[in-house]
Amino acid sequence: MDLVIRGGMVIIGENAFRADIGIEGERIVAIAARLEARRTLDATDKLVLPGAIDPHVHMSLTAGPLRLTSSDDFATGSIAAACGGTTTLLDFTDPPDTNRGQSLRDALTARRTLADAQVAVDYGLHITLTDARDATLAEIPDLIAAGCPTFKLYMAYEGLRLDDGQLWAILDALARVGGLPIVHCENHHVIVRLAARYRAAGQTAPRYHALARPAIMEGEATARLIALARLADCPAYIVHVSCREALAAVRAARASGQRIYGETCPHYLTLTAHEYDRPGFESAKYVMSPPLRTAADQEALWHALAAGDLQVVATDHCPFFYEEQKEHGRDDFTLIPGGIPGVETRLALIYHHGVNQGRLSPAQWVVACCTNPARLFGLWPQKGQLGIDSDADIVIFDPQREVTLHAASLHQRVDYTPYEGQTVRGYPVHVLSRGELIVEDGRFVGQAGRGRFLPRGTPLLPPV
Ligand code: MN
Ligand code: MN
Repeated sequence: MDLVIRGGMVIIGENAFRADIGIEGERIVAIAARLEARRTLDATDKLVLPGAIDPHVHMSLTAGPLRLTSSDDFATGSIAAACGGTTTLLDFTDPPDTNRGQSLRDALTARRTLADAQVAVDYGLHITLTDARDATLAEIPDLIAAGCPTFKLYMAYEGLRLDDGQLWAILDALARVGGLPIVHCENHHVIVRLAARYRAAGQTAPRYHALARPAIMEGEATARLIALARLADCPAYIVHVSCREALAAVRAARASGQRIYGETCPHYLTLTAHEYDRPGFESAKYVMSPPLRTAADQEALWHALAAGDLQVVATDHCPFFYEEQKEHGRDDFTLIPGGIPGVETRLALIYHHGVNQGRLSPAQWVVACCTNPARLFGLWPQKGQLGIDSDADIVIFDPQREVTLHAASLHQRVDYTPYEGQTVRGYPVHVLSRGELIVEDGRFVGQAGRGRFLPRGTPLLPPV
C-alpha cells in the first residue's frame, strides 16, 4: 500500500468507528483495524469522511442584465473547494449560442475546454436547457451517453426561463431516457411585476430584491413543477429550496410516492432576511435568488434535512465582488449581480450549525454533503463513500478545531464572506483527491488543472 490514514474515526453509512484506511494509487484498497504502508497520515482524534461533493456551483458564470462574470474561475473556485473539504464539483454548461449554430454538445465541449485546464478537483457538468425545440430534445440521449445525465431548467430569469409547455416537453423527453431535471423554481412573471412596482416607487435598495421574490411564489412554482413532473412521469430535483411553502410542496409529492428530491444551501440554513436590514448598501452582499427567508423557514429546512425530505446541502456558489460588481446595483436592486460565495465553508458550517447543535448526526452530515450528491448525480460508488475500490477522495476533519471565518483568510476569489467574523468549531485539516494529498494542514498543496472531468452514470434515486 502507498498510504495509510491511521487511527481516525471513520464515518461509513450510519456507523462511525476507529479504523485505518489503506490507499494504493488512486483508490481505497483496505479498511481495517490496523494497516501498514510506506507512508502514514495520522488521523488520531479526527473524523475521516469521503471527500464532499458540491453539486451546485457557478465558476466563471456570465449572467444578469449587465453580463457580469462570477469572480471565481475553475482554478480559484476548485482550490477553495478543496480547502473546505470538497473534492468533486458539479457546474453547468452555458446555453448554446443557437444563432451561431452551436449545439448542446458544442456548449459542453466549450465548458470542458475552459474547466479542464484549470480545475484542481474532479468535476462534472449539468446541461443547461433553455428551449424545447426538437433539435434540443433530440440531443438529450447523446449528452447522457457523454456522462451528463442531469439537466438544469429555469422557471425564472429572462433568457433562461422555460414556460410550462416547454417544461412539460423536456420532462417528458427526460423521462423516456432516464435523465434527471434539476430545477430553479420561482414565478418569473410575478417577480417582474413586483420589481417594476418597487422601482417605480423609488424603492431601489437591496431589501426590495427579497420583497420582489416572495416565498409564496417559490412555493407556487415548486408545486407547478411537481405537477408537470407528475404528468410527464419524470422524477425531479428542486435546487435551493429556501422556504416552508416550497418544502410543503416537496413533502406532499413525496408522501404520494412521487420521486421528488431537493437541496437546500448553507445560507438558507444559517442566515435570515435580517441581513437585508444592514445599513447602506451592505445588504447587497446577501442578494441571491431565492432570497434569505425567516428563522421559521430556517428551522423547517433543518428538520426537512434530518427527516430526509431534503437530501442534499449544496452551495449555489456564485461569488461577485462587493466593491467592483455588486456596486453596479447601488441605485437599482435589479442590477445587483445575484449570488453569494460558499464553496469553501459548506462542510464546516453544516457541521457547526448542524452536528454541534444536535440538529444532524455526523452520519446525516456526511449523507447530505457527500453520499446523496454522489447517488443522485450518478457518481456513486466511485465518489461519495469510503469503500473498497472507491476513489481515495478523503477528508480528515478536526471536530475540535475552531476557525474564525474571514474573507482574507479564505481562498475564494471575492472580497467578502457572508459569514465574516463567525467562529465555527470543526474544520477540515487534510484533504486527499484520488490518493493525492492536495490540502495539508489547511494549505493547498495540489495543482490547478489536475482535476478530471467525470463522465457520470445513471442517477440512483433513493426510494421515497
Ligand atoms: Mn438558481
Ligand atoms: Mn445556481
